[in-house]
Amino acid sequence: MDNIKDILEHNKHFVENREYEAYISDKFPQKKMMIVTCMDTRLVELLPKAMNLRNGDVKIIKTAGAIISHPFGSAMRSILVALYELGAEEVIVVGHHECGMAALNSDDMIHHMMDRGISDTVLNTIEHSGIKLTRWLRGFDNVEEGVMETVDLIRNHPLLPPGVPIHGMIIDPKTGALDLVVDGNKNLTSQS
Ligand SMILES: [Zn+2]
Repeated sequence: MDNIKDILEHNKHFVENREYEAYISDKFPQKKMMIVTCMDTRLVELLPKAMNLRNGDVKIIKTAGAIISHPFGSAMRSILVALYELGAEEVIVVGHHECGMAALNSDDMIHHMMDRGISDTVLNTIEHSGIKLTRWLRGFDNVEEGVMETVDLIRNHPLLPPGVPIHGMIIDPKTGALDLVVDGNKNLTSQS
């Protein structure tokens, strides 16, 4: 299997046949939304179909578990860029059932790193520089808790423009069914 060769071969035909024409849009999200969701393979096509999102409609960030763990990391920066510079006006965090980050055991993962050649010295140096690896790698106990933590992190960010609703949803990775777990509009009215 040679993925790179396959991709480049397909790409040549895609461009030659002008298949891109169906996707032409610009960098501003038509629906003025930013979606934060999981990198899960089952959501690649399912999530946009289930939410009626087409090319040009939204900005999407994908992280393992739809988790944003650092208030000054690149995921949060992307949200701020979308809100301040690209016309997004609300954010929806979409977690999903059966998420790999719910089952993730950070101790096991550190063992897997060691099995693949990462040395004790490297791990100790990282710990001594103040990064708690087990904490950094941690997922969540249940998906609702994970979504709510990320919603809270965004909502409480000191640089979030006032009046931006931050919603939380959970998607079924098989049927695409969505549950609203945090209604960001309600939280806006309870704040005022
Ligand atoms: Zn996931």
